[in-house]
Parts: sequence; structure tokens; C-alpha cells
Amino acid sequence: MVSYDSANIFAKIIRGEIPAVKVYEDDDILAFMDVMPQSDGHTLVVPKAPSRNLLDADPETVTTLFAAVQRIASAVKNAFNADGLMIVQYNEAPAGQTVFHLHVHIVPCFEGIELRGHATGGFADPDILAKHAARIRAALQKDS
Ligand code: 5GP
Repeated sequence: MVSYDSANIFAKIIRGEIPAVKVYEDDDILAFMDVMPQSDGHTLVVPKAPSRNLLDADPETVTTLFAAVQRIASAVKNAFNADGLMIVQYNEAPAGQTVFHLHVHIVPCFEGIELRGHATGGFADPDILAKHAARIRAALQKDS
């Protein structure tokens, strides 16, 4: 497997070198809005520990990551009153991975509404993403 490259865009977001619309952060995890959401509320959950994807991640990182994914997914579903959630994690380019730092997509799904394409749907308005993030943060607080 190709080794981890710390110049990837999510590592830059974790280091605070480029902005992101954040939903949740602690010592191990960062969650933020996807800039090209497949539906309203599309959130990415990222462990701060470096790995390309699931295949080279420490088991402890995976455990911490998926505990956070479960908690944030519930908040996303409540915040958007979604009918369902798609939870996706791609491993390597042939599978669809485009950013090579482990991350999990939380994509709200709504009856009768088709999802936009993966990383092809166009950039969302940052003001709208900020409003969506605020809704998810409020739902997280309610759950805690
Ligand atoms: P992957 O194919 O690697 O699972 O998906 C990467 C995701 O990151 C895509 O859904 C894409 O829209 C999103 N993305 C790419 N660049 C950025 C960025 O700079 N900021 C944020 N917030 N999301 C990004």
C-alpha cells in the first residue's frame, strides 16, 4: 500500500491550515460538513490519527472513529429529520476514495429524493453549510 501523505486536504483541515465548517471536535475526532454534499447534512467524520484509510488504521482508531460516527449519525438524522442514513467509507481510488486520510461519510437520505453524485455535485454555499452544522451541533447537545 502507498504510505500516508500528510499533505492531504483533511490533514490540513485537522492542523487548521485550511478552513472547514466544523460540527464536532475532541482530541481524537473532527467532524465537518462535506463541501460537495450529496444531500443536505452530509457530514464527514475523521480521526486525527494519520492513516490513508481503514486498511492501515490502528484498531483503536477504528473503534474511536465508529463510536463517534454512531453518535454524530444520530444527531444528523435528528437535525434533518432524515428517513435514513447512508454511511460510506471508501478504500483507495478504484473504490472511489479521493482524499487519502481515513474518513466516514454520513449522508442523510429522504424518501423520493435522489442523492447528488459523490464528490461531483458542486460546491455548497458556505453560509448554508454553517447553518446545517449549527443544526447538527444543536442535535448533538440535545443527545448528550
Ligand atoms: P472520498 O472519495 O475520499 O471518500 O471523499 C472525499 C470527500 O471530501 C468528498 O465527498 C468531497 O466532496 C469532500 N471534500 C473534498 N475536498 C474537501 C475540502 O476541502 N473540504 C471539505 N469539507 N470536504 C472536501
